Amino acid sequence: MMPDTAIAWFRRDLRTHDNEALAAAAAADRVLPVYCVDPRTHGMQPYGGADSFRYEKLGTRRVRFRRESLDGLRDRLRGLGSDLLVRRGRPEVVLPNLADAVGADVVTFHDLPGPDERAVRAAVTAALRERGVTPRRFWGRTLHHIADLPTPYTAISDTYTKFRKSIEADSAVRETYPRPSLAPIPGGDDTGVDADAIRPGSIPDVDVAVDSLGSPDAELGAGEDADEIDERAVHPFPGGEDAALDRLTSYIWEGGHLREYREARNGLVGPDYSSKFSPWLNEGNLSPRRVFEEVKRYERERVSNDSTYWLVSELRWRDFFQFQLAKHGAQFFAPGGLRRRHDVNWRWDEQEFERWRTGQTGIPFVDANVRELNATGYLSNRGRQNVASFLVNDLTIDWRRGAAYFETQLLDYDPASNYGNWAYIAGVGNDSRQRAFDVLAQAHQYDPKAEYVTRWIPELDGLVPQKAHEPWTLSESEQARYGVELGVDYPRPMIDPTTSGDDPV
Ligand code: FAD
Repeated sequence: MMPDTAIAWFRRDLRTHDNEALAAAAAADRVLPVYCVDPRTHGMQPYGGADSFRYEKLGTRRVRFRRESLDGLRDRLRGLGSDLLVRRGRPEVVLPNLADAVGADVVTFHDLPGPDERAVRAAVTAALRERGVTPRRFWGRTLHHIADLPTPYTAISDTYTKFRKSIEADSAVRETYPRPSLAPIPGGDDTGVDADAIRPGSIPDVDVAVDSLGSPDAELGAGEDADEIDERAVHPFPGGEDAALDRLTSYIWEGGHLREYREARNGLVGPDYSSKFSPWLNEGNLSPRRVFEEVKRYERERVSNDSTYWLVSELRWRDFFQFQLAKHGAQFFAPGGLRRRHDVNWRWDEQEFERWRTGQTGIPFVDANVRELNATGYLSNRGRQNVASFLVNDLTIDWRRGAAYFETQLLDYDPASNYGNWAYIAGVGNDSRQRAFDVLAQAHQYDPKAEYVTRWIPELDGLVPQKAHEPWTLSESEQARYGVELGVDYPRPMIDPTTSGDDPV
């Protein structure tokens, strides 16, 4: 009998632990792990398929993180006696051809909630079936399995609290899958598999210009400085499963930070005010169920308190947005959001957007946060909320511009969490309440000593906290004394800051 051969197709699940698709492939006599560099996922792309504006889908920092994730995955797989094949091209073309070349019977993979990713999955599935290859689809993106929700995902509540209560009452978290042992990749002299078909292929690099038209040689992104880490960054965020598991251990066990998560999570400076798991969760280096198991063990062995509960609750926020995206599809990205609002006239002012994007609004708390994002690819949740609210509620600029900008910049970009949170703050998403933030009040509350703003806006260093947050109140003589000339060293505010957070619409 011919040995069974499985292809394990990796997507945003770049890990060997708790990977059901890989575990399923491991049952075959030969296993070929594959990653496709799909030209549609990088380069300048039109927003949402419509040609309203174009933006870079994959920023340099996430390219760096992905490259390291792929390097780490290949090392892990080689350690298991296997390998990782990397191929440039559309998966619906690459995978059937590869299946033919190695005689694969089955291709295993994880599904994803976004419409683009689901369209790719549908194209792959159809192309494989045409060649008589069986596609096997799994779900591994969330803490709660999509099949274990109390209702079908299409019927979940659009309000987070209701969703959370329903899953807390009626949905258990599945156990993690152990790391599988893998059969060798197909090939060898006696099998008739062409050696070229199974050459590993190079992991794409950052420094080659993008060819967004999708030449098979296209690399992952254009970039300068992707490897440079700003010394003020909260974490260097190395990509890959090893780094993810190291962070899990150091945050929860070595540092013992989990016990204070709830109190610390609104922090702005340093590595430990929050878990910083997000880049690894979103690239799939870290399984949310693995985090859950560690939290439960911590509760048994050390302490079970509000903080341990709260971290799991945040993972449920993440689940909520994943399932919301699956439920609402393309509407999730529409200007009126899933609430289909037509009563908001989003503005489109290039100059104002540019001031926001470059951290030159003249409101230090907004500028400091945008500058941190630009310099490091990471931003605290508090910072994200404030800069997003300023753009959409104070400047009333189209929320999709801001969300697309985050998509390029964020190391932890995820379509569901990013567009879901932006829409929520813009009032077109999952909540009917007004979500405008008073950025000035937030600045004084969360950065009372102005340590954060002066860290990212050195022009304001030396000012007393009140003035560092409100430099527009400096008199002429104070400007001379502190060496900050308004409009020269630091901009005047682009709106009356005391109106921030007022109901915009
Ligand atoms: P922690 O506070 O330690 O939380 C643990 C985990 O819970 C996070 O890693 C994340 O997976 C999840 N989580 C926490 N808060 C949220 C939330 N509000 N929504 C969804 N999941 C959450 N998060 C992303 O992962 N990717 C994004 O692209 C993204 N874009 C955002 C855009 C805006 C405008 C806002 C307001 C929030 C966004 N978030 C996004 C959510 C949140 O800010 C980050 O998940 C969090 O700051 C990551 O840091 P952490 O891992 O230390 O979080």
